[in-house]
This record gives sequence, C-alpha cells and structure tokens, in this order.
Amino acid sequence: MTDSRLSDLRLPTAAPGITPTRVLTIAGSDSGGGAGIQADLRTFALLGLHGCVAVTAVTVQNSVGVQGFQEIAPETVAAQMHSVVPDIGVAAAKTGMLASAPIIDAVAQACDELGIGRDADVPLVVDPVCASMHGDPLLASEALDTLRSRLIPLATVVTPNLDEVRLITGIDVVDPASQRSAAQALHDLGARWALVKGGHLRSSDHSPDLLFDGHEFHEFDHPRIDTGHDHGAGDTLAAATACALAHGYSVPDAVGFAKRWVTRGLQAAYPLGAGHGPVNPLWRVSVQS
Ligand code: PLP
Repeated sequence: MTDSRLSDLRLPTAAPGITPTRVLTIAGSDSGGGAGIQADLRTFALLGLHGCVAVTAVTVQNSVGVQGFQEIAPETVAAQMHSVVPDIGVAAAKTGMLASAPIIDAVAQACDELGIGRDADVPLVVDPVCASMHGDPLLASEALDTLRSRLIPLATVVTPNLDEVRLITGIDVVDPASQRSAAQALHDLGARWALVKGGHLRSSDHSPDLLFDGHEFHEFDHPRIDTGHDHGAGDTLAAATACALAHGYSVPDAVGFAKRWVTRGLQAAYPLGAGHGPVNPLWRVSVQS
C-alpha cells in the first residue's frame, strides 16, 4: 500500500454547513441493526459521508437468524434511486441484499439510466449477498442467473465471500490456485475488479483476500480476527470501499482501506442478543480510539 492517506483510516470530511460527499446503498434492512442498510449508514456516517438509501427488502432478523423478509416492489426500488440520484447526486453506490431477480433487473436498469456502474461516472460496488451467516437465504436461488448476467457486468468491483463464489462461479475455493481461478471467472462475467474474500482459507490465523482486474493480482492478507461477532462484515467492507471510491481512491487502495476499516471493526466487535453480534464501526467514536 503506497498511499499515505490509508494510514489513519480517515477520509476527507466536510466542514459544518458544507455538503459532504454522498454515497448510495441499495440494500435490505436488518431489524437487528447489525448488517444491511444499518451497517452501511453507520460506516458512511463514521467516514464522514452522507448516505442515501434504496431499500430492497425488510428483513425480520435478530442475532440468531433471519425469520423472514418482505421484498419491496421492484419499481419502488428503482423509484428510490431515480428520486435521490439526480437531486442529491452520489459519488459512488453499492448493492447488498437484492432478494429477487425482478429487483436485480430493476436495479440494473436504473443503474444504466442514472450513470452508475463500471463504465459510467459513478462507481458501483456489488456485494452479491446470497444468504446470512446463519445460512438463511437472502436471494432467491433462481435469481443467480440474473445476478451473473445483469449486475456483475455493471460492477466496478464485486466482493463475494467463498459461499457466494461457489454459487456464482461453481468454483470451490480451497487454495490459492482456486482462489485465482475464481477471481478470473468473476472477471470473465464482466466485473472490472473481482475481490475474492478468503475468510478461513489457507490458515486459521489469516484472512487472505484476492483482488484481480484481468491483469494484476493484489493480495490483502490481514490477521484473521477470531470473534464470534462478525455479523455485517461483508456489508461493512463493501460500504467502506464505496466511501473510498467516492473520494477518488483507486480500487486497490479503496479495498485496502476498507479491509483495514473492517479489521478495526472486528477487533471492537461486541456481543448482542443470544447469537452473533455485529462488527463495530463505532470504534471510531469510542473513548479509547
Ligand atoms: N441481512 C441483510 C439485510 C444483509 O444485507 C446481510 C448481508 O449483506 C445480511 C443480513 C447477512 O449478514 P451476515 O452474513 O453478516 O449475517
């Protein structure tokens, strides 16, 4: 990492009364407050950005699992995007839980119309959320084709975990070679950059993530934080990446920034309820930090 701006985990902030940089999340609500739009908005705010929201689904979930969800009508998802983007203006966007093929279609079309995506002015981070950490589905299985054909080709960077990689590419990542093959397969689907998050791959004490643009591989190898409380880690990584892209960082620098942001959040994670607590972006405002 060469950029000295990455060292203090801060992004430029606006003075009071001055409009901050804006970013859009297109994602689901988590009633437990750990993941989804709640995680995104916390990260946006703590990094000094103003977050706009297109809600895709309202989940009923707590620390032990997802009990169900209600999808928002696809045209209402698109209408939220069409309402905020031309008026408020956004410098980056991210997608999270999209629930269904019709919602993915509506989001992809709205991105095309609004100039969001890899070949447009506004970069797009695609977090291809398929299931919760408890294994509860958050995307209809028949929506995978639409995800591959409509959304991933719009991604400035796509950020799947290993389960999502398996569902999207059919590749079981078990070692560095298969991680590279998966990154290549995601790039072949049309993403400008593919980030294959390593999770527990390779060793129990490291979390190697691999980023690829068709030419160069970048590896981000941070110590794995062994906490039972990592709910919302993927959303937080994608949200922080979108914030850094909104400030003009390159994709490798934005991912490096976001990875370090999530690592701090995992170090400060807290228990919640009877199950898994969330990553904690509030470390930024804790008295110890
Ligand atoms: N709920 C919502 C609304 C989400 O967007 C996500 C992840 O993106 C999750 C739950 C799953 O989070 P986790 O995998 O950390 O349980």
